[in-house]
Parts: sequence; structure tokens; C-alpha cells
Amino acid sequence: MSERLQGVGVSPGVACAPAVAVRWSLPDVADRTVAADEVEGEIARLHEAVGVVSHHLEDLRMRTLQRAGEEEAGIFDAQIMMAQDRDFLDGVEALIRKNNLAAETAYDFKALELRNVWERSRVSVLRDRLADLHAIHIRMLAHLMGRSTEDAWLGTINEQVILVARELSPGITVQLDREHVAGLISEEGTRTSHAAILAHSLGIPTVMGVRGALEGIPEGAMVLLDGQTGVVLVDPTPDELEIARLQISRRHKLEMQLEGIAGEPAITPDGVRVMLQGNIDLPEEIEPALHHGAEGVGLLRTEFLVTGRTSLPSEDFQTEYFRRVGAAFSGHSVIIRTYDLGGDKFPVAFQAPHEANPFLGWRSIRVCLDQPEIFRPQLRALLRAAADRDVQLMVPMIISLDELREVHAWLAEEAEGLQAAGVRAAQTLPVGVMIETPAAVVLADELAAESAFLSVGTNDLTQYTLAVDRGNARLADRFTPLHPAVVRQLATVQAAAARAGIPVSVCGEMASDPVAAVLLLGLGYHRLSIAPPALPLVKWVVRHVPASEAATAAQAALIARDSATVRATLREVLGRHLDLRLVDPAGALPGLSVGASLPGFR
Ligand code: PEP
Ligand code: MG
Repeated sequence: MSERLQGVGVSPGVACAPAVAVRWSLPDVADRTVAADEVEGEIARLHEAVGVVSHHLEDLRMRTLQRAGEEEAGIFDAQIMMAQDRDFLDGVEALIRKNNLAAETAYDFKALELRNVWERSRVSVLRDRLADLHAIHIRMLAHLMGRSTEDAWLGTINEQVILVARELSPGITVQLDREHVAGLISEEGTRTSHAAILAHSLGIPTVMGVRGALEGIPEGAMVLLDGQTGVVLVDPTPDELEIARLQISRRHKLEMQLEGIAGEPAITPDGVRVMLQGNIDLPEEIEPALHHGAEGVGLLRTEFLVTGRTSLPSEDFQTEYFRRVGAAFSGHSVIIRTYDLGGDKFPVAFQAPHEANPFLGWRSIRVCLDQPEIFRPQLRALLRAAADRDVQLMVPMIISLDELREVHAWLAEEAEGLQAAGVRAAQTLPVGVMIETPAAVVLADELAAESAFLSVGTNDLTQYTLAVDRGNARLADRFTPLHPAVVRQLATVQAAAARAGIPVSVCGEMASDPVAAVLLLGLGYHRLSIAPPALPLVKWVVRHVPASEAATAAQAALIARDSATVRATLREVLGRHLDLRLVDPAGALPGLSVGASLPGFR
């Protein structure tokens, strides 16, 4: 009997091979002090180590350029910038001088301090970058302490294996090849971490976020992993192996079909046109979104411009970025969300308050309206970019009309200011509202009357409706946008937008889930903004499930009394048109349970 573990599939494909655990961790760094006359020497050692590490990262950059491409190579530009960050190194230097510390002691202290801030951050981008930070940290310490580096073991792999690690760094990942590494499993990591992006580019099936993987997978045990559904089986039975083999061939067939539909329109079999846009958190997602046929951007998150930096990005810098994204998607709209900062998601230079309940605290539009020096340059950048690009503005976390009106007023003031100063800028631009709180749902008619569009942020709407922290792993099974309380609010918002005659979309993660997409389609959401890798599959769903059937399922979902019934209703409709086991991890990959039947595509 096999043992089953569940993680998040981040790079598709099925792999089967013996497990090899890779353990690399931060060395214990003693609190070492030096004599006063040695302090300058320690600072010189610090800078020498930065030089060596940067050189190594440059090598990895070149290697990535050859193996994956320009966008992926950019990951190492970002790491080089991180390794050489002036403010960070100034902090280390100051610590060495103040306390006569050895370079490794001071570096370790500052890096752990930064890691701690990022770990607690609500900003997924920062959490995604933890592996990069960790990789630099280990490499710097290895150099300063004269130890071997974390990838020294790589040369010892000489047969096809599945690597199991606590965390995968991009530097490790890019040095792997499919000849030796059949698949990757890690305990940490998310879909948008750099290691995941690289594994995807290199075509290595990968599952991340597998809790207890290092403990639960014995060295050398045969492992079967599914990089789509996130299922990991330890010691699979012969039946499971046979099913996996068939699964691989069916998945391959599905991938061929998905590859072919990037240029096709998203139209249901009964003729309903659906607009599928991309969610972009980082510049490196622009290319995949275009590749998968995104019709513009339904959510451009702007937090990455701020987080992890020591100062706010200039108005010019933001204008350029917004123009660049607008140009990449020319012919389509790019919806730019204003800063959704909050909790500890602040620039380092910005003194964020300590709060007992950051999710209910000073975040998002509340921060922007309280801090004109943050918000006004962003509004000006948006207006300037809108002079020659189809960019639109979207405001997160709205709970009242007053907030929306204040945004309109500030925007008008900034437009006037730019005009008076003779700066080329649009006089105004479409302003839409994110529906992320139950308050906004109740006020949907009023908000719709004063907005160019509505977009439902189901991640936050679910969190605030169910009072379930979206980032709390212990509550993960209680967090579902298929809860009847969320489903009914989705219907309310759609109806309000229809009454006002304005577009409405969903840009929360639920729109990237093929099962939930059936519900949204059935509720009348004809715009969905989706994580780029999920675009082909959702388009495939749209092109196979008739809108009339989705509407019938949505009506049933609206009177359902629990999430399980909602999900079962949607799965039933989806299952009429495609093999559920390929797309829904909540099913039985499931396909991998003994004796499961294997119907082909319909
Ligand atoms: C949401 O809350 O659904 C959303 C799209 O915004 P974010 O995930 O950035 O909070
Ligand atoms: Mg949100």
C-alpha cells in the first residue's frame, strides 16, 4: 500500500524514481568578536565574499540564459542585486563596527533579521523570494566560513532520481537536468517562487509545499509524483504505476490540445464569449501571459515595486513600468491595482506600525489615503501611462463610497497638476473597484453606480466572509470560495454590475480553478483574470462546457447548503465534458487509486 502526500503542483508532468534527500541548511554561526584593529579586515572580507558570490551568480545567470532563456536569467540579475544591496550591506558593516563582530556573525544576524520580516509578510512576492534570500545567505556564510557550498553534492547524482528538499533555490534548480533529475519535491515554496518558475521552464515535474516530505519519504524509496495535482505517492503499487503510465499518456494528449488553443477565442460551445485576462504580480509573468493568449491584464499587482526595497519607487519608474506592460498587451486593457500594502508589507524605510490584527488593520487603500507621499506619485504615474496606453485603475479593499470618491478627487487633482505643469498625461482614466469585503458586496449597487467596472477579489472576500485567515495552513480546509456564503455574494455582485451596465470580473485565485470557473461562467461572469499558467486549462473548460449547463449548475449552487454540494454539482457538469482526474486535485488522482477506471477524453 502506498503512502500519499499532498502538495501544490508547480511544474506539470508525472515522474517516478527513487527519492534522494538533499539537506542543506544554514551552518551554526558562533557569536565571534574580533579585536578593534581587525574590524576593517572583517569589512574587507565581507566585500570580498560579496564579490565571489556575485561572480558565482553571474555564472548561474549565463547558464540559465543558455538553458532556459532571457526572462529566467533575470532571476539571477535579481539575486545579484540582492547580494549587492547597498543598504543591507551598510547595515552589516555598521553592525561589525559597532560590536566588533566577525563578518559572518554580523552577516548572519542581518540576514536572519530580514528573513524574519519576509517570512511574516503577507506579501506573497516576498515569501516567494525567501528561497533566493536563503540561497545567498548560505553561499555567503559558506564563503566567509570556508565551507563547501550547498550544491557541492550535485556532481554525485548519476542515476534518475527525485530530489526531496526542504526548500529549493533557483541556483540549485537551474543546475539540474532531466537526464538525472526526474522530479522535485520540496516542503517549502509556492507556485510563484523562482525555483518553481525555473523548474517549469526546464520541464522538471515539481511538487512544492509537501509538509513533512523529508521525514515521510525514506531515502531510496520509490516515489511517484504528479506536478499538476500535487499528489505524491511513496512506494506506489504496480497498479498505481500502471495507472500513472496511462495518466502520462493522457496528460500528454491534453497538453497537446492545450498548447494548440492559445490563439483560439474563449467561446463556449453555445456561443458565449468569455474574456480571459492574466494576473501579473511580477514582470517575468508578462511573457507567459502573452504566450498563453491573455487578453490583457485583469490584475496588475504593484506591491513588488515597493516590497523588499529600501525606498519608494519614483513616479518615473512606475510610469515606465506601467507603459511597458501596456505596450506588451497593446490592443487590450491593463488593469493596474493601486498599492495593496498592509501589515508588514511596507518599504523598509517606512515605519509600519505593529498591529495585533494586520488583516483588519491599516492596509491597502487605507494606507494610500493616509499617505499621500505614497499614493499621489502612483496616481500621477497611472495618468501619465494612460496618455498613450489603455491602462485602467483598480482600487482594492474598498469598504465605503467615501474611499472611492476620495480616490476620484485625488485623481482629478493630480490630472490638473500634471496638466498645469505641462506633463503629458491623460485627463482621467477608468476607475474600477475590487469587491473584497462583505461591506462592498452589500454596497455593490452604489459602488457600481460610480465605477467603470467591478472585479471580485475572492481571496480576500472569502477570508473576510468566513473569518478564515487565507494564509493559515491549519485553516486551509475551511478556506473555500465555494462556501454558499461566498457563492451567493458572487451572484449579488454580478447582478449589481449588470444593473449598472458595467463589466464585472473575478481576479481571485478561484478563477484559475477549472471547477470554480464553471460556477463563475454559470453566474454570468464573462471576464476572468487568471494566473498565466492556468490560462490554457480554463480556456479549455470554457470551450467545452456549454454556458447553459454552467448556468443550471450555478442555480443549483445558489441554493446548496454546503460547500461539498456546490463542488459536487460543479464537478458533475465538468465531468460530462472532460476527465476530472486530470484537472481537479480534490478528485481521486487521484486516478492513482487502485482499480480506478480510466475513461478517455470526451
Ligand atoms: C483577492 O483578494 O482575491 C485578490 C485578487 O487580491 P490579493 O490576492 O492580491 O489580495
Ligand atoms: Mg485582495
